[in-house]
Amino acid sequence: MPRVFSGIQPTGDPHIGNYFGAMRNYVRLGEEYGKNAIYCVVDLHAPTNPGAYDPARLAERTFEMALANMASGLDPEKVIFFAQSHVPEHTELGWLFTVITPVGELERMTQYKDKAGKLESIPAGLLMYPVLQAADILLYKADTVPVGEDQVQHIELTREIARKFNASFGETFPEPKAVLAKDALRIPGVDGDGKMSKSKGDASTLGILEPMDSIWQKLRVAPTDPARVRRTDPGDPDKCLIGDYHKLFSDLPTIELVYQGCRTAGIGCVDCKKMLMQGVRRELEPLQSRAADLRADPDRVRDALATGARLAREIARPVMEEVREKVGFLK
Ligand code: SF4
Repeated sequence: MPRVFSGIQPTGDPHIGNYFGAMRNYVRLGEEYGKNAIYCVVDLHAPTNPGAYDPARLAERTFEMALANMASGLDPEKVIFFAQSHVPEHTELGWLFTVITPVGELERMTQYKDKAGKLESIPAGLLMYPVLQAADILLYKADTVPVGEDQVQHIELTREIARKFNASFGETFPEPKAVLAKDALRIPGVDGDGKMSKSKGDASTLGILEPMDSIWQKLRVAPTDPARVRRTDPGDPDKCLIGDYHKLFSDLPTIELVYQGCRTAGIGCVDCKKMLMQGVRRELEPLQSRAADLRADPDRVRDALATGARLAREIARPVMEEVREKVGFLK
């Protein structure tokens, strides 16, 4: 049976871009792959990002990201779901991979160049980030990795590391393939300035756990099609981020109504946003209610992660035994 692996950054509050682009995909793949869907909150990667890393908040962010995924429908009974730092085999395999990975390959990674270019002193961990990522995937001999476009280069490097290890020590790891999430949409930021992104601050994002009145305040002032200067001016929902959001949240009759109403000036933008808000409530209120239940009983999240780490190690340990023997360590 093929095996899926995906790492989830403990970035705190996930937004609707994360939800539609990744989290719902995890749930769907979980239904298909069961315990062969392996998801981990990659907290070991967090300290490589000095700008965003706060040791006082990492545990909380890891917990919150686990909670948000469970509230979004990820069932830890069906899949394997854990925190990366709870499975020490990740770092052990990562270390062994550093000795077969050329520094030059790592230095040409686009993400490294982007981040390193903004730093005066570059931590070695930032350079090694994709090596640990390769270990995350190959530790479970996963062959399928759902990712965003920005991670495709790292998966290609993972394939090279697998090839190199196999050539040096004998056939051990599959060469995993990156699968771009089917609904990895480019969701626009609610400020109308490019893609929704945490790095641009809260004004750009709609959090999936954000209170409904806060979401409404952002939608209320969100830019619309500039062609609609007056209520009587027709617009084009394809040129409006509210139109894009309707495609995510609204049912088909509402979308048809909005498209027709916008193009004929039959509805105003405030009416249109109120209709969108109904869809937002329908999608996010049950999720937020599940999140509140989990927050009231945090041991459900902690226990799920502990069970997940135990199951992950049941796969990881024999793989590491095989690796240790092949690279020549004393038993
Ligand atoms: Fe955007 Fe809706 Fe206004 Fe059309 S009616 S411009 S889709 S907010």
